[in-house]
Amino acid sequence: MTIALIAHDSKKVDMVGFVRDHIDFFKEHNIKLIATGTTGTYLEKAGLEIEKMLSGPLGGDAQIASRMVEGKVDMIIFFRDPLGKHPHEVDVSMLMRLCDVHNIPLATNPAAGLRFVQSLEHEMKEQ
Ligand code: PGA
Repeated sequence: MTIALIAHDSKKVDMVGFVRDHIDFFKEHNIKLIATGTTGTYLEKAGLEIEKMLSGPLGGDAQIASRMVEGKVDMIIFFRDPLGKHPHEVDVSMLMRLCDVHNIPLATNPAAGLRFVQSLEHEMKEQ
């Protein structure tokens, strides 16, 4: 299972906390984490293992979308900043549209991300 992580700038610290809170679970279940470039750098600096794409504005969201349509990403957790302007908004819209096309779960805020991970934890406990 692969989870893609993306956080807009004002949400990156929240993303580090979120991944830290769940890293034992991710490791225990061999869940691979990939992230857009700068989000990934934040996570690496916090000592977390991650595969990094390009930075979002340089095509990182598009790389994640590309992997997702190839069936290589199972879930996306994207902490969005609803108040800011982002130069790569078209890429973000493309990623979100393709999640719907391919029926891939997409959490766009920490509360949804938490529910997603809790449901995974529950699912894996049942196995
Ligand atoms: P970043 O990209 O992690 O490289 O900042 C995030 C985004 O797509 O906004």
